[in-house]
Amino acid sequence: MAKKVYSFGNGAAEGSAEMKNLLGGKGANLAEMSSIGVPVPAGFTITTDECLEYYNNGKKLSKSLKKDVIKALGKVEKIMGSKFGDVKNPLLVSVRSGARVSMPGMMDTVLNLGLNDKTVQGLIAKTGNERFAWDSYRRFIQMYGDVVMGVGADSHGHDPFEVELEKIKTKKKYSSDLELTAEDLQKLVKQFKAVIKKRTGGSFPEKPEDQLWGAIGAVFGSWNNERAILYRRLNDIGDEWGTAVNIQSMVFGNMGERCATGVAFTRDPATGENHFYGEYLINAQGEDVVAGIRTPQRITVKGSKTWAKENGVSEKDRKSKFPSLEEYMPSVYDQLVDVYNKLENHYKDMQDIEFTVQDEKLWMLQTRTGKRTAAAAVKIAVDMVESGLIDKKTALLRIDPNSLDSLLHPAFDPKAKKKVIAKGLPASPGAATGMVVFNADRAYEMNEKGKKVILVRIETSPEDLKGMNAAQGILTQRGGMTSHAAVVARGMGKCCISGCGSVDINYKKKTMKVGDLLIKEGDFISLDGSSGEVMKGEVATVDARLSGSFATIMKWADQYRTMKVRTNTDTPGDAKVARGFGAEGIGLCRTEHMFFEGDRIRAMREMILADSLDERKKALKKLLPMQRKDFMGIMKAMEGYGVTIRLLDPPLHEFLPHDEKSQKIMAEEMNISLKQIKAKVESLLEFNPMLGHRGCRLGITYPEITEMQAQAIFEAACALKKKKVNVKPEIMVPLVGSLREFQLQKEIIVEVAERVMKAKKVKVDYQVGTMIEVPRAAIRSHDIASEAEFFSFGTNDLTQMTFGFSRDDAGSFLPEYVEKKVLENDPFRVLDQTGVGSLIEMAVEQGRNARKKLKVGICGEHGGEPRSVEFCHRSGLDYVSCSPFRVPIARLAAAQAALRQD
Ligand code: PEP
Ligand code: MG
Repeated sequence: MAKKVYSFGNGAAEGSAEMKNLLGGKGANLAEMSSIGVPVPAGFTITTDECLEYYNNGKKLSKSLKKDVIKALGKVEKIMGSKFGDVKNPLLVSVRSGARVSMPGMMDTVLNLGLNDKTVQGLIAKTGNERFAWDSYRRFIQMYGDVVMGVGADSHGHDPFEVELEKIKTKKKYSSDLELTAEDLQKLVKQFKAVIKKRTGGSFPEKPEDQLWGAIGAVFGSWNNERAILYRRLNDIGDEWGTAVNIQSMVFGNMGERCATGVAFTRDPATGENHFYGEYLINAQGEDVVAGIRTPQRITVKGSKTWAKENGVSEKDRKSKFPSLEEYMPSVYDQLVDVYNKLENHYKDMQDIEFTVQDEKLWMLQTRTGKRTAAAAVKIAVDMVESGLIDKKTALLRIDPNSLDSLLHPAFDPKAKKKVIAKGLPASPGAATGMVVFNADRAYEMNEKGKKVILVRIETSPEDLKGMNAAQGILTQRGGMTSHAAVVARGMGKCCISGCGSVDINYKKKTMKVGDLLIKEGDFISLDGSSGEVMKGEVATVDARLSGSFATIMKWADQYRTMKVRTNTDTPGDAKVARGFGAEGIGLCRTEHMFFEGDRIRAMREMILADSLDERKKALKKLLPMQRKDFMGIMKAMEGYGVTIRLLDPPLHEFLPHDEKSQKIMAEEMNISLKQIKAKVESLLEFNPMLGHRGCRLGITYPEITEMQAQAIFEAACALKKKKVNVKPEIMVPLVGSLREFQLQKEIIVEVAERVMKAKKVKVDYQVGTMIEVPRAAIRSHDIASEAEFFSFGTNDLTQMTFGFSRDDAGSFLPEYVEKKVLENDPFRVLDQTGVGSLIEMAVEQGRNARKKLKVGICGEHGGEPRSVEFCHRSGLDYVSCSPFRVPIARLAAAQAALRQD
């Protein structure tokens, strides 16, 4: 039969740190600490398997488990020299939950178990401290009553135990619990028991063994309380894991002035600085430190002095009222330093520890890998490599690539107060504060006047680009993670929250409603693009800092990764930013974005409105020099790296205004009738524009557009080459589904290339390739690769078309799909490896069979998502391409993928 109970204590243990699945994180680490000689109060862990058994057994503890528990308890008694239930020398235990991963505060705990009317006398005799003993007893009844017997707060939030406590305090005119005398507490014990009787009809169990079975059952039961279930859902924790139960002899930090309790990190969890960082309280129990009732003191003298300075406490007061542990109990401090060095060297990572000091003896209650900020994670990893504790590979694998995001954008000051009013999708990280405006022109105008604005739209369209650029952040009511707003904002490195359904925008009134709250134009809001939180008012921000360690980690990542990392960008400015982040070329330049700036949109509209080929060509001629200039800018910024330029992709209606006011302005500017504009807009209307006249379909019906774009690219390339700037343009045809489509476009591009190069007398090294965005292109990839020199997976469209989910509308049902486990993730965010991924694998294989040297990359949003990047690595892609601010994330994710495959 499988072992149910694992003992630890006195320098030995049956379990180890590797056994987290069976013993839970806490149990495994208690075992490990005990066996490496760290002082741990003796105890034992009931396995997570037994939790499942408990449920299979109709929520009952089996006889055999009880037998094993009694046996393990015997061992604890022996080590501690006391006896469970003994009247003279009672052993008291704590009963705590402990799942495979930490679920802080989600499940139940019972302390001081083993006390009853008789054993309390033993505790008094043992400690000589009557008040302490009665206080422990009343706390135990309170906790047990709540956790095991279900006597908690009523529907009005009144906790019946607290009500009794308050009654005595009021009667005796006490202002704090500390004034309660032993006699008061003894009385409370009686009253608490009466409360239990009244509320449950049953009695508080006096027999310690019954108390124990009740507490173990309650901890197992708390695995399925509402809080724990919700926490599991939010953190991808399996329902079938179960929790372990840790039963451990009690040590007391609240037995007098030579006792204390504390929590500490072996390094600073905010900055990663290598100094011991922690807090403690004299004469207190563990939860008092976190509860915030008393002001915790710092452990080190240095920390204490810093704290005093920050809080305006004089050195005299600090020393007398709030001394550090280093000063107050120097020998305990020395023991603690020894222990934390031992733990860090053993676990080879920063630890988060809990300890208790009982009569100047140090006991460790917990150690676990400490949670830290991204900045701290990077610094600690680099420092540990430099001190020889870990190797570079371990350091790289330890950092969550996604967390780097917070190093690249300004963030809200963690100390700032905030009032969250709504939550949307965290579409693009960053912290933005500004005045609300509801249209792009207004955003632009106000920004010109030096005002910080947040652009709030139902959804954005390319017309809003100017306003988006001018805004600090963007909030949209509709749209998913790959909506226009999300994609463009990420490209700009701008904070964006999309799909925030709980805001109700009224463009006419220039207001937005969130519940009862009405926000008008000009009111301040703040957006946290990493959490999706919308906050009222201005929240203070702090600038992001790129530390030296961050650069070091990136350098190491580059040593191990095999995939290249490019960027998606369409302006020279962003291209430079991306180069700074280490981008090795451009994987996607969406040329349409270039048509919205300045007076280009006018020329573009002339082209769209043209009724004849001649007129269209005339308009295109105006666009040519502007495009040429843009291409020169970005190719120059990329310093000879490949620049993939995509031909015009969106349906033409996106370039025309849809509201009458803007249409009127356009009519005036272009000196044509409003009617003409309306007729054109109408003629371009499509039921499904995403599946309509867009991508290469435009280039096939209007070859002159492709011709103009190719000409601009090659003229730019030739001009740069003449200036001795190395260039590598890669012209990319979008939305291809068949070989013939590609051929028709390629013919034009090659013809223009030859013509321009001949005229300029310059030879440019170029390639013509395609995006794989239509499932048919993946299926027929062998055909297409016979002509295309590269493939770039446009996984935004490929996901849309493989699932048949509109990328702009799927936000209305995808969250429920994820919740109901139809899908594991939003497939527009995390690549669907089994479906869309199969098409990718197939296209890579077939494509390379047809053309050995076919270059293959990805430029959909997934190119900057770590799990998707790992998939790309395994599928043999040559590069991933993502928005500039995700380049470092992709570099690290690519390195991790390579390291994991080794
Ligand atoms: C894609 O479809 O993945 C892509 C990169 O193109 P866009 O997002 O511009 O449609
Ligand atoms: Mg696309």
